[in-house]
Amino acid sequence: MDNASTPGGDPPKFNNLFCWEPIWFKVEDELFCVPRSGFTAASDLVFTDAFQLPSGTAELEAGRDKSHPIDLPDLKKVDFESLLKVMYPIPSMFIAKEGIKLDLKKEEWMSVLKLTTIWKMDKLRNHAIECLSKTDLAMSAMEKLQLAKEYRVGGWFKEGIKALVQKSPLEVDDLGALVGWDCAAHIFAIREHDAKRPHHCAEGNGVQWLRFQTIRCASCKTTEPLYKTTSQNCRYCGIGSAITDLTFTYGGGTPGSELVLGWSSIICVRDQCRQYALHNANVVCTSCKVNASSTGQIRVYIEPTVDMLIEKYFGDEIKQY
Ligand SMILES: [Zn+2]
Ligand SMILES: [Zn+2]
Ligand SMILES: [Zn+2]
Repeated sequence: MDNASTPGGDPPKFNNLFCWEPIWFKVEDELFCVPRSGFTAASDLVFTDAFQLPSGTAELEAGRDKSHPIDLPDLKKVDFESLLKVMYPIPSMFIAKEGIKLDLKKEEWMSVLKLTTIWKMDKLRNHAIECLSKTDLAMSAMEKLQLAKEYRVGGWFKEGIKALVQKSPLEVDDLGALVGWDCAAHIFAIREHDAKRPHHCAEGNGVQWLRFQTIRCASCKTTEPLYKTTSQNCRYCGIGSAITDLTFTYGGGTPGSELVLGWSSIICVRDQCRQYALHNANVVCTSCKVNASSTGQIRVYIEPTVDMLIEKYFGDEIKQY
């Protein structure tokens, strides 16, 4: 005879997976009811802290039935409903041909991001970030940067800045209003730098960019430029440039660092030339008085990548996210 059905025997056990206690919420003018366990499991916050519940009997009653819903007065229905769609998906929403797939719109994922950030639901938050990062929900660079600042998403902050650095044209007023003038000024500084990068020096192809202005003495550590001239000609094509505009390429070295080279190893950026550009010039270092032609060497600075400049200007901010 079955023990559970014996009068006076052990009461039935609760199933581990499916014995849901309800929790009731009130948002705007609507009641919502879902399994309580979803909320207690998803957040790092203690349940009562997340919903700022009073302690004592009021806490015990809170959300237990429809006459005692947990009131969430600052929330919008649309945001809350989007979060619930992810926490408690309904089969008709996610059983697709290609398997199980949650089909939320971009705005709905943004709602999920917003609430999971407030309630420290880390797993769900990361999932929302992942979904919003997919190309089919593509965000504009401005949108990405705005959301990155609002919801502290370091990856988006970097990506947003990088996209803005490479985007043309960029409205300074729009950008300043969105991210603040200090941040906007740094973005424009990175843009201005990158605009001078020779097209031969695309990221990752090993061809580095260096500028005439940063050629220095190889015999000492001075930061003074080696050349005191105001313009310089390429020794091969003979075309001259103001030294402030004159740039070269070099097939090695690490961006953002210095390197000692032979005179004749840096290359003219003109497509029609692409030959070794400098003579072994008779120039004396103002600091150590060594004549550079006697060593045959110069010290150059390999220009930094966009990522390095983003790190330089925004690294501290990204670290805080
Ligand atoms: Zn040339
Ligand atoms: Zn070209
Ligand atoms: Zn020197």
